[in-house]
Amino acid sequence: MPIIEVKQLTKVFGHDPGRALSLLNQGWSKEKILKEHKLTVGVNQTDFTIEQGEIFVIMGLSGSGKSTLVRLLNRLIEPTSGAVLFNGQDVLRMNPEQLRQFRRKNIGMVFQKFGLFPHRTVLQNAEYGLEVQGVDKKARRELAMNALKLVGLNGWENSRPDQLSGGMQQRVGLARVLANDPDILLMDEAFSALDPLIRKDMQHELLQLQAKMKKTIVFITHDLDEALRIGDRIALMKDGSIVQIGTPEEILIQPANKYVERFVEDVD
Ligand code: ADP
Ligand code: MG
Repeated sequence: MPIIEVKQLTKVFGHDPGRALSLLNQGWSKEKILKEHKLTVGVNQTDFTIEQGEIFVIMGLSGSGKSTLVRLLNRLIEPTSGAVLFNGQDVLRMNPEQLRQFRRKNIGMVFQKFGLFPHRTVLQNAEYGLEVQGVDKKARRELAMNALKLVGLNGWENSRPDQLSGGMQQRVGLARVLANDPDILLMDEAFSALDPLIRKDMQHELLQLQAKMKKTIVFITHDLDEALRIGDRIALMKDGSIVQIGTPEEILIQPANKYVERFVEDVD
């Protein structure tokens, strides 16, 4: 069974998206509906599955719907229609307590902005998620220390974030999430703010880390090279829809249409 299953997932932003959706289903042109209802399609009738242990990359230009899609997975955004299943369980039917548990225990999110507290040490930052959950001091210290070791930051526990490079700061962000041992990591443009060389290092390190920890990683990027380098499979998005899902080889060798072809034609 896939760890995540997405069925006909749609998110329309704006007033009365339900009505817009029914017009869309009646065959009205998307442009016309959007204009008349001042609506924006974030994600459009999307289907896919994510397998346990894979790095699933969502790639696409800015505004193609990547962040909306990833936020729908843990219901930070309520969908307009469709379903998200986690291990077969419908995320949209979870009650508030189940949803809280799901977000805390099963999912970890890493963003482009590292979200570190400048006045806290590296260790305190790595402990933060566990602290919020009320894990006792001794246990959370141990878990955070292990996570810092995993991302190669042992020895830096007592430093402040501003003493660290951008890449190291993002590793603290990663350690904070890993300390919680989630099943799924959602990484939304996690490396996009890094300098190109550091970014490449981080890609490499993420792959090494993944070889050890075998999480399920949903990795969002607008960068094709990054997607090809780290993805087990890549979903290419355009205007809220997935235009192709495949391995890097499939995307490169068998582009599904002209759009994908143009997207990949600059790759050596
Ligand atoms: P990406 O992450 O690929 O850059 P987003 O998911 O952020 O794309 O955005 C997809 C589309 O949805 C864009 O047209 C964007 O303007 C729109 N959108 C995203 N969030 C909102 C929102 N909260 N309200 C209205 N429109 C939104
Ligand atoms: Mg985004």
